[in-house]
Amino acid sequence: MIIADGGRGLPGAGDLVVAAGAGVTGLPVVRYLARIGASVLVTSNRPAPAGLAEIAGDVTFAGDLMSVPQGCSLVVTSAGIPPSHPLLASALAADIEVIGETELAWRIDQASGSPRPWLVVTGTNGKTTTIGLLEAMLQAAGRQVTACGNVGWPVIEAVLAGGPLEPWQQQPRQDLIAAELSSFQLHYAPSLRPRAGLLLNLAEDHLDWHGSMAAYAQAKALALTGDIAVAVRDRPVDHGSGRFRPRLRGENHPDPTAESLLRAAPAGIKVEVIDGVPADGQIGVTAAGGAETVVDQAFGHGRLFAAADLRLPGRHNVTNAMAAAALALAVDVPPPAIRQGVRAFTPGAHRNQPVAEIGGVRYVNDTKATNPHAAAASLLAYQRVVWIAGGQLKGATVDELVARIADRLAGVVLLGVDAQVIEDALGRHAPDVPRISVGRTDDGAMDEAVRAAATLAAPGTVVLLAPAAASLDMFSSYAARGDAFARAVAALDRP
Ligand code: ADP
Repeated sequence: MIIADGGRGLPGAGDLVVAAGAGVTGLPVVRYLARIGASVLVTSNRPAPAGLAEIAGDVTFAGDLMSVPQGCSLVVTSAGIPPSHPLLASALAADIEVIGETELAWRIDQASGSPRPWLVVTGTNGKTTTIGLLEAMLQAAGRQVTACGNVGWPVIEAVLAGGPLEPWQQQPRQDLIAAELSSFQLHYAPSLRPRAGLLLNLAEDHLDWHGSMAAYAQAKALALTGDIAVAVRDRPVDHGSGRFRPRLRGENHPDPTAESLLRAAPAGIKVEVIDGVPADGQIGVTAAGGAETVVDQAFGHGRLFAAADLRLPGRHNVTNAMAAAALALAVDVPPPAIRQGVRAFTPGAHRNQPVAEIGGVRYVNDTKATNPHAAAASLLAYQRVVWIAGGQLKGATVDELVARIADRLAGVVLLGVDAQVIEDALGRHAPDVPRISVGRTDDGAMDEAVRAAATLAAPGTVVLLAPAAASLDMFSSYAARGDAFARAVAALDRP
């Protein structure tokens, strides 16, 4: 092992390294390891991917390994594999380091002689939108950067882009690394210290992988261990109707919250994002003169942009834009470029995406609202909603969500394996709201759901697919669910 940068190790020529998982991030890891002359044993519970055979060097596919082989000095694992997996458990028991692709990328960058500032976005919901906004702001400021990480482009490829080890890459060298990271990726990146890291929010999720909410929060908190830590102080204010709703007991926003994690963070500079008038050290919103303006009281720039500059609906997206601005300011992006980025950014598919307006009813696809916390943000973006909900709740509770949005429901259409859980919550918190259950789970289910929703929707209403649940009980992915919704809406319009 070559020890670089304060004791953090990079593998070297001749080292035996196990690469666990051979997917989107696994293949570039193997390619890097092979190019530096390591002996790479690739393990996966799936057949060897086609791309593996094309990688030159000492690369062997070892099938589905359950323990580390003799002589192995490092395991680089796919983030999807939990530490409890026998292979990783055996490595940890033998004191062999287990790291992820992001950690490897970080070490490569640190050892490169010209490391770049890293900006990291994490949180349960809103990561992809926020990293997209950040990318738009950075690009508006003329920085050479493409968002990487969970959003699609492996971090290791972003780090190697434009360098001698990746001559085939299309992307040029990155001025900085802007990464969307999941809790899994952070867990396996213990030495990562970003220039600025952002925790957007923290709701119950992925407990099967992490084992507990505390472990999930701890992994997310790694984003706050750099120079500047940014967290959203999520306030339970219902802006649509102007009414204040305290959180209910038993809802899925347990301690430790993002706010308390920020308080405990070791970062030298801490920035809070709030949906309200900002105090010192905060970025927030003022409503002077009737127009809402995002104001920076953390870095001292004052007015940044108007909430109306944003093309995305909902308070949650104003929050996402403020949070992205905090990271951009952390690397000296000037306010005009931040405003330009906010104006230029268009939302990703399947996230509060308008599909059609038929007879005065708007149809909106937010199939990406795959948990109750996301669905709450989405539903609060509209005044009057026919809500299409249901799927796999994965044990999440929906009482807080239903209580929060009850007064804006014109109707509910339920489908999927956990429909009854939502039905029960509606019975408790919104008993008078008309609802229709779609029992079928075949290809026609979404068509029936959309037709049912149309019967409940008066002009001025939004029919919103924001399922609060995962899609895999009925669809191959959240995107397939959104596509089915769009097709069903298109079919409504045909005689
Ligand atoms: P992620 O990458 O974390 O899944 P996305 O940006 O893809 O996040 O958004 C997923 C869904 O989460 C959106 O469709 C919306 O319903 C909800 N959402 C977006 N931003 C937020 C936020 N700041 N707080 C709560 N929910 C949000």
